[in-house]
Amino acid sequence: MTSTLSIHNWFKKKQAEKEVLGRERLDIPGGLWVKCYKCGQALFSKDLESNLKVCPKCNYHFKLTSTERIAQLADEKSFKEINANIRSKDFLGFNDAKPYAKRIKDSITKAKLNDAIVTGLGKICDLPCALGIMDFSFMGGSMGSVVGEKVTRLIEEAIVKKCPVIIFSASGGARMQEGIMSLMQMAKTSAALGRLRENSLPFISVLTDPTTGGTTASFAMLGDINLAEPGALICFAGPRVIEQTIRQKLPPGFQRAEYLLDHGMIDCVINRKDLKETLVKILRWFNNVQR
Ligand SMILES: [Zn+2]
Repeated sequence: MTSTLSIHNWFKKKQAEKEVLGRERLDIPGGLWVKCYKCGQALFSKDLESNLKVCPKCNYHFKLTSTERIAQLADEKSFKEINANIRSKDFLGFNDAKPYAKRIKDSITKAKLNDAIVTGLGKICDLPCALGIMDFSFMGGSMGSVVGEKVTRLIEEAIVKKCPVIIFSASGGARMQEGIMSLMQMAKTSAALGRLRENSLPFISVLTDPTTGGTTASFAMLGDINLAEPGALICFAGPRVIEQTIRQKLPPGFQRAEYLLDHGMIDCVINRKDLKETLVKILRWFNNVQR
């Protein structure tokens, strides 16, 4: 009781501090509590994690890292990463706020990843599949030459192994620092999916928040089945850009997963807690068709 009270008092104090400073985030040491970005509810980190990082109050789906996604989906120890060590190059000597070469180096250190996607072969409920998981924490999940190459190699590996491909997208679009090299990945990944189709192997695309730009305009929307997590922003140009261009207010929920479902752009919006079961159903269905 004492501890509940003291936590309560502590929260009141924090709230007062927040009001004084006008800050938006709950800045709590140790990361024990997280504030829901959508409803503002303070959530105990461990509870949030055991709820697959979904807010129990408003169903907001927090972003997952590639490691978290693999842990939630793949059978234990079944995931074997491929092409883990491909790193990007600064083809153009690109320099914005800082040189691209430095940006790559810093992102590798910060995200503890070599680029914005992790690919590999694994099993979900004993069903083999080729898995690609984009990671927004690496330069906003932008698709440069490495993401395109890894997606393509993953698809080629799936053709060799005769297994379905599942890719989770989370992307700010093409990586502008690589110019044309990133744009050509759209054609390359789409062509690879064409070859997957020729081999009668399925591609399941899972769109998570946010999936935008060149990623949406290429492989992410080319699934035989396109699934999305609730509330995910899925678009080519973002709502702010469109609003500024057409100078009109956009309808509520525009470009969110549910809106896309209503307009026939995707097949299903799936809660994270049902995702694994749904993927298993789909994989089994394709397995039966192929036999
Ligand atoms: Zn919430």
